[in-house]
Amino acid sequence: MANIQMVDVRGQYLQIKEEIDAGIQEVIDSCAFINGPKVKVFQANMESYLNVKHVIPCANGTDALQIALMALELKAGDEVIVPAFTYVATAEVIALLGLVPVMVDVDPDTFNVTADIVEAAITSKTKAVVPVHLFGQVTGDMVEIMELAQKHNFYVIEDNAQAIGANFKANNGSISKSGTIGHIGCTSFYPSKNLGCYGDGGAIFTNDDKLGVNIKKIANHGQVKKYHHDVIGCNSRLDSIQAAVLDVKLKRLDQYCEAREKAATYYDKNLAGIEGLVVPVREKRSSHVFHQYTLREQTGRRDELQAYLKEKDIPSMVYYPVPLYKQDAFKHYAPDINLSVTEQLCNEVISLPIHTEMNYEIQDIIIEAVKSFYK
Ligand SMILES: *Cc1c(COP(=O)(O)O)cnc(C)c1O
Repeated sequence: MANIQMVDVRGQYLQIKEEIDAGIQEVIDSCAFINGPKVKVFQANMESYLNVKHVIPCANGTDALQIALMALELKAGDEVIVPAFTYVATAEVIALLGLVPVMVDVDPDTFNVTADIVEAAITSKTKAVVPVHLFGQVTGDMVEIMELAQKHNFYVIEDNAQAIGANFKANNGSISKSGTIGHIGCTSFYPSKNLGCYGDGGAIFTNDDKLGVNIKKIANHGQVKKYHHDVIGCNSRLDSIQAAVLDVKLKRLDQYCEAREKAATYYDKNLAGIEGLVVPVREKRSSHVFHQYTLREQTGRRDELQAYLKEKDIPSMVYYPVPLYKQDAFKHYAPDINLSVTEQLCNEVISLPIHTEMNYEIQDIIIEAVKSFYK
């Protein structure tokens, strides 16, 4: 029986082992573990890959979101709009900073917020919106959300932890990398992310010079000049060994995105048409880098399907089983809300294995298993 995994970090490593090992060894030989040359090289390469003015590396994706919010200089009680169908980190940092997470629904096809959903949640206290580019595609209404931001004077922070490398095409045809459309973009380099390191890591992107200075300062104890602290900051750094790994993988990121897309297309071709199962819907203005390949099981047997696959040694995951507003930590923010799409998705979604080392042989096993469930 093939050993099928959700994500094959080791298989990918074996393909690039020589370069990775050399990069790590170089850091150890130099002993420049913190803010060494590797971090600066990776930062510069990331800036040119994304075509963005400032990339500020940090310790993880959650920190990236927290620092981005801190850089906006909001005050306690200010509202930040966030989808209820996301990973906890997106809303957690909002609450942690004494801001109010205003949890909103998502589009049932793309799992992302729309401009209409955001607009309906705007109040005089709205100071920021955090669209999450869920499962690997950019929120299609980013341009319209930026227009709302200008009109109502709030910031847009993209949670780009799952969509690094995706391309967004505006109506005028201009292409931007995901995470560079809002005022600030945040990402995570957690090992299983599309651009993952071998530990924790994250980064913040912006084209705004003033925000760039602020973000850099906050991530470094609120100082620009050593031992002179202008604001309360935090200590959030990407270490040099992680930067060495990331720099090797960044060169292959487009190739990795293509491998995931190819695997997704093969799933689509073979799973489309099964009654009660919905294959992923593509955003019109974004490419899809398939951090997850997420189906919707609409016959009420999602958990049964998952157990059935497990019996055949096929892993699958439910991202995410519980709406944020039903979590004990968050329910006091919105005791009465019930977002119908979020509720439905929490009951229907199931993600199949997808990664850069996928091949048709593995996929055929998975596809046959899913098909036999519905026979
Ligand atoms: C992974 C992830 C994060 C957090 O990243 P960490 O590096 O684990 O802190 C935030 N938001 C989303 C949508 C994520 O998938």
